[in-house]
Amino acid sequence: MKWLRRIVLVLLALIVAGVLGLYFFAPRYVMNTANKTLDPGPYEVSAEALALHKTLLVADLHCDVFLWERDFLARGHEGHVDFPRMQEGNVALEGITAATRIPAQQNNTATPDKWDVLVPLSFFQGRPAATWFSPTERALHQAHMLHDAAERSNGKLVIVTSQQELNSYLERRKSEPDIAATFLGIEGAHALGSSVDNLDVMYDAGYRMIAPTHFFDNLLGGSAHGLGKFGLSEFGAEVVRRMEDKHMLVDLAHASPKMIDDVLDMATQPIVVSHTGVKGTCDNMRNLSDEHLLRIRDNGGVVGIGFWDTAVCGEDVDHIVAAIQYATDLIGVDHVALGSDYDGAVTAPFDISGMALVTEGLMKAGYNEADIRKIMGENVIRLLREVLPEA
Ligand SMILES: [Zn+2]
Repeated sequence: MKWLRRIVLVLLALIVAGVLGLYFFAPRYVMNTANKTLDPGPYEVSAEALALHKTLLVADLHCDVFLWERDFLARGHEGHVDFPRMQEGNVALEGITAATRIPAQQNNTATPDKWDVLVPLSFFQGRPAATWFSPTERALHQAHMLHDAAERSNGKLVIVTSQQELNSYLERRKSEPDIAATFLGIEGAHALGSSVDNLDVMYDAGYRMIAPTHFFDNLLGGSAHGLGKFGLSEFGAEVVRRMEDKHMLVDLAHASPKMIDDVLDMATQPIVVSHTGVKGTCDNMRNLSDEHLLRIRDNGGVVGIGFWDTAVCGEDVDHIVAAIQYATDLIGVDHVALGSDYDGAVTAPFDISGMALVTEGLMKAGYNEADIRKIMGENVIRLLREVLPEA
């Protein structure tokens, strides 16, 4: 029976080696294959574009950097966003969002809520056991990751949660151009569980923007990529009402068309679509129709144009600019902004250190300086000033 024992021992050793290998290498492999950058830089733009870009307040509405294990304060070459690359790209404000449940069969048109890939990913990334199965705990952990980075940054990385904090940050930045700010959002209010009171928990953790749905239908209603294409449920309406009371931004990225209409019907504050495309240049399930763009203009809202293929039907700055141009032609320059979806399991044409490429693209497309300022960031800053709590 000696040989049997040997075979069992070898098999056990192989299993242990396999699990350890997965533990140490799989998360990194997943992160890098999910978030490719076509041109890793360094980036070259015209002297004229660079000169203008350096004077802009650049804001990007959406990235998912804390889905992944990287040191946010270290200059990386993986994925798309970290603090040093924000500085290199002169990005003043980045919306950092938490994805808290990702079904394995995630797709653009009909995603069933089954087999959450964040269970193995959280485990293999070595995240706290509380996050392995709980969307709520995942959101709290990602907020903690940002707060931890801010604490280690010697005051250079700021988290904005109110108008007062936004204004004092912008005042500081006039003399300290190397500081940068972030604000926190959540993709999919399933992070609240089934309790509207969890909104207070998320608010206290620093969250100020929440999208009712992400890739699948949940208790609040329908996702653009879900099975039912439902509108807003009664629970969803209660959450939206409470979010407005608390001066949080309602994000309609990933919402079903019916959900977009239902939220706009009841909204008393400007809404945001943090990362999207427009059907006018890229007709698919997740992108905004002309009719919705016009309704969002009338609501005073802001639409963040994405940088990835499903948003703009191309993988270069020209396609991003074409989508921006379609939107501004239809609803004007006051309602269009950037919503990269960096690190959101997408391939990006350039990382955040290359933001000047967008400025250059807008110049080439014929936008004047005032309009470029608005699209590149001022519209987002205006929106936050309108919606965030005063203090
Ligand atoms: Zn998203």
